[in-house]
Amino acid sequence: NVKRRSKSNSLLIVTEKGRYTCDLLIDASGSLAHVSRCLHGKDKNFRPEDQVPTAYAQVRGNVPETFDVFLGSVAPKGYAWIIPKGPDTANVGLGVRAGALKGSVKEHLQKFCDDLGFEILSIGGGWIPMGGPVKTMVDQNVIAVGDAAGLVMPSNGGGISQAMISGCFAAETYLEYKRNGTPLETYQERINSCFGRALKNSLRSKNMGYLMFQNDLITEVLLRILGPIGGIKRAMECDKPLWVL
Ligand SMILES: Cc1cc2nc3c(=O)[nH]c(=O)nc-3n(C[C@H](O)[C@H](O)[C@H](O)COP(=O)(O)OP(=O)(O)OC[C@H]3O[C@@H](n4cnc5c(N)ncnc54)[C@H](O)[C@@H]3O)c2cc1C
Repeated sequence: NVKRRSKSNSLLIVTEKGRYTCDLLIDASGSLAHVSRCLHGKDKNFRPEDQVPTAYAQVRGNVPETFDVFLGSVAPKGYAWIIPKGPDTANVGLGVRAGALKGSVKEHLQKFCDDLGFEILSIGGGWIPMGGPVKTMVDQNVIAVGDAAGLVMPSNGGGISQAMISGCFAAETYLEYKRNGTPLETYQERINSCFGRALKNSLRSKNMGYLMFQNDLITEVLLRILGPIGGIKRAMECDKPLWVL
């Protein structure tokens, strides 16, 4: 658990291994943002939204040579992927909007692999926050980084580089605060100037995808239109998917 001490404003962290106090806490607890949950419950200002369940597996079989992405009923409002890792092994995964599939995501991944004739060697899962950045990344002396700050690009689910860069920004911001008294809130300004535009474009693309990709036929038609004009590529790369939108 995490509690803020009212007198000193320091934070008390109670873990299975002991109790700790600190003046600054960097919340790098990932998509479920445990520190924010302890301090603010479900408050949307502090916790990342639109948590997408994912499952992935290491597989063996006749895998493609290319990184393949599948849209449509196999992964409603999300996508499935095959990333080749060797001549006969690959990482296969599935991420869908919460509630869009009946049954567990792992069962659907199992079926997807069975249909493709892949043998599953190991399987795992996780959550990806697809709702864009949280409103408040600096909560007095708590700084949220990476997934805990909602820094995943919603149109492609990537968040590793933002997690690393935001962690670095958080550390630098704290040093600046200690040396010169620069407010910790400058962290969020740096995040916005570094990722703000891409996150905004990416969130817009994801929301358009949620609206437009309603069934396999519409998905097929849209891919045939948007594919050749580069709309899908731009959405995946967090540019504006269409010049006008
Ligand atoms: C299936 C899947 C595939 C992905 N593929 C890609 C990809 O190809 N490219 C990409 O850029 N991004 C990808 N992502 C997203 C990427 O993994 C995350 O954006 C990134 O890992 C976020 O880093 P983080 O440090 O913020 O959080 P995490 O990597 O989630 O790290 C959080 C850490 O905090 C620990 N933790 C949480 N709560 C507690 C607690 N109470 N006590 C102690 N420890 C705790 C967790 O165990 C974990 O180690 C993928 C995500 C998933 C789920």
